[in-house]
Amino acid sequence: MAPDPKEGRREGSLAAPTRHPLGWREPSFHDPQALERELERVFEICHGCRRCFNLCNAFPTLFDLIDASASGELDGVPRGDFARVVEHCYLCDMCYLTKCPYVPPHEWAVDFPHLMLRAKAVAFRAGEVGWRARVLSSTDAVGRIAGIPVVAEAVNAAAATSLGRKLLDATLHVHPEAPLPRYQSRPLRRRLEPRPQVERAQPAGRTRGKVVLFTTCYVDRNEPQIGLDLVRVFEHNGIEVALAASERCCGMPKLELGDLDAVERAMEANVPALVAMIDRGYDVIAPVPSCVLMFKQEWPLMFPDDPAVAKLRAHTFDPFEYLAQRHAAGLLSLDFKQPLGKVLYHVPCHLRVQNIGQKTREVLALVPGTAIETVERCSGHDGTYGVKREYRDVSMKIARPVLDRLRASDADHYASDCPMAGHQLESGVTGRGAPTHPLSLLRLAYGL
Ligand code: SF4
Ligand code: SF4
Repeated sequence: MAPDPKEGRREGSLAAPTRHPLGWREPSFHDPQALERELERVFEICHGCRRCFNLCNAFPTLFDLIDASASGELDGVPRGDFARVVEHCYLCDMCYLTKCPYVPPHEWAVDFPHLMLRAKAVAFRAGEVGWRARVLSSTDAVGRIAGIPVVAEAVNAAAATSLGRKLLDATLHVHPEAPLPRYQSRPLRRRLEPRPQVERAQPAGRTRGKVVLFTTCYVDRNEPQIGLDLVRVFEHNGIEVALAASERCCGMPKLELGDLDAVERAMEANVPALVAMIDRGYDVIAPVPSCVLMFKQEWPLMFPDDPAVAKLRAHTFDPFEYLAQRHAAGLLSLDFKQPLGKVLYHVPCHLRVQNIGQKTREVLALVPGTAIETVERCSGHDGTYGVKREYRDVSMKIARPVLDRLRASDADHYASDCPMAGHQLESGVTGRGAPTHPLSLLRLAYGL
């Protein structure tokens, strides 16, 4: 939690900000009194700063509570209302990585996302998280059940009727207009095996020329086509794609709930199989930025002394980051067959905070006859936040700058690396059709 004193004291954001270990095993981490004191300290700093007023609804909630209090200061806010701030944080990390000048090594050591995560973890341990949030965050279990043949058709049919949506609203408080994924009875992992092996993989930069695909709960069970498109593109570029022996949810939905023990179980269930593949010469990629962020950042911050987690971090890539490194070494095929025209490209927050630059834009811009218009604002989807009845209006308000750009654009395609963010945008506009995932656009451009 605390910054390393050896780093010295200076303004944090004059250099690229770095995250620090979560310290969730420290005795004070789950202490409610220690948490309240830290919330008071950081909220006081944020009240005096207010730079993050337009990132999400956590900060406006805090500032409204302060402004509406009798004293107009933090001391006038009932401590029980602090939870109302916490519930609006979906741990995107944007405040830490793009705004805050007081992050460690600044002596104020403000780490707003980790403080929110700590508050969620304390609430979870205290049993304050209801069954609905637990169900919605159990993406792999829900996917396994909803993906059973016949059940999948029934679930999809029910989700497409107003009666079914009313039922979902009444039971799980899922907003009737929120986009819901369709379930596939034949998941991606079953469609892919076995893949052809490349005789001699060619390394380039940090890439080793063969990858293990972590399919992710969403792409495996809901949109396997994105994974199929990824495989075609990678194999077209001479990169072998394999699967790990087993795969479970990375735990990101559980992290957003504050269920850190479940995140640990997710790490323990996935890391051995992925590291076994790394030891056989593979790198790791995943078609959903949140899962890549889990491997690159969240597990390393929760388990900073685990060498297997560190090894996984060193070998994990965003798919377009991988392709961009291959291109830098002259190894990306440029035999594009089809221009993409204008593409409105949304950069999801969990990709932005990976600090790798806009690799998706760079690679898509290689396609002749293609113009990319980039939007770097939150889509408002944010895990399960945007589907919950009580947050739907706020989530659409957060998405509004992106939706306005989409409405005003005459783009031929719109795309987001996060498939769920793409569908959130789809639900907020009419007449623009469905989003096309950037990997699907690249396959289209290759004419594969
Ligand atoms: S991490 Fe994201 S959602 Fe949470 S407070 Fe910061 S900007 Fe808002
Ligand atoms: S997180 Fe940092 S930048 Fe944002 S309001 Fe608080 S102190 Fe200001």
